[in-house]
Amino acid sequence: MAARCIRGAVTVDNDTAAEVWAKTESMLGEIIRCNNIAPEDIISILFTATNDIKSAYPAVAARKMGITEASLMCAQEMYVEGSLRRCIRAEVTIESGKPQSGMRHVYLGGAQVLRPDLVKKSEGISVAIDGPAGSGKSTVAKLLAEKYNLIYVDTGAMYRAVGLYCMEHGIDPDSRREVSEAMPGISVNVENSMGMQRIFLDGRDVTSDIRTQEAAAYASKVAAIPEVRSALVAMQREIAKNSSVIMDGRDIGTNVLTDARVKVYLDADAYERARRRCKELEEKGIKADIEKIAEEIRQRDEYDKNRQCNPLTAAADAVIINTTDMDIEQVQQAIGSLIEKALLR
Ligand code: C5P
Repeated sequence: MAARCIRGAVTVDNDTAAEVWAKTESMLGEIIRCNNIAPEDIISILFTATNDIKSAYPAVAARKMGITEASLMCAQEMYVEGSLRRCIRAEVTIESGKPQSGMRHVYLGGAQVLRPDLVKKSEGISVAIDGPAGSGKSTVAKLLAEKYNLIYVDTGAMYRAVGLYCMEHGIDPDSRREVSEAMPGISVNVENSMGMQRIFLDGRDVTSDIRTQEAAAYASKVAAIPEVRSALVAMQREIAKNSSVIMDGRDIGTNVLTDARVKVYLDADAYERARRRCKELEEKGIKADIEKIAEEIRQRDEYDKNRQCNPLTAAADAVIINTTDMDIEQVQQAIGSLIEKALLR
């Protein structure tokens, strides 16, 4: 265990004691929540406030929250021409077994402009990434979730879980009647934390089991069934309701989150997508045949683009990025700059 520091910043609209305490509480609450710590883990907190805050000490909010053991200190910040006004900052020191780089800093309200790369979701932002299989959606979405503190939601995994259920229970994925009758009895749950998602089918963790070509083919078939889509879309919207998300899939921008602040449609040449899939499999020690994978991808594209219910297509307001000749860093930068623009808007 070693001492680690977590930074936070928040702005107030009015210099009143009630607002200073409320905003300080929300900043400390977020620091505690997203670093998964308890008030008693805190050794000390140094608060600073800009010189236009005169109504109250932010430390009072910490005591009100039950942070009773930590030593607290309030100080006035240097005034530098052009710096953010009515801002309260905190440096929270804790004992932790985690590295310093694992600490999550929190910037709320107007203070978000200080670190757009660390923004917390109080204002709520959703990012929709759609595109065909192998276009790089999930790789880039995970990186961006980490960078911008978004909850990563892989909606394809949910369709794969339903596909896996049908595979395991001898249900014909082409039969709307069989699948829709089974659907109310299929329990799909997801656990999302920054940049990671685990998926459960009837309480069993199937995060790895759904990653086979067979499960993908089943997923694509059950995904054409309206009863499956309406159940899973409801879950996806529920997740996005209370948190800022980066969600990838086929119909996120066109159907699930039509008011997403950032919409991206990632595309790439089918053969290049097959090459990437092959590389991924080979890195996991699985031998892969590129021709077979290219064919499977073409079939799945065909199926996803031509189904009646929410087919794969770019939303009218999506930014289309063709990643065929881009590496992952370039894709990440392109979408990252769209997110930053949206955050500062
Ligand atoms: O993204 P992934 O390859 O895991 O998705 C598996 C399948 O689930 C897709 O081929 C597609 O048919 C379906 N899907 C969908 N709508 C989504 C996400 C995935 O129809 N939002």
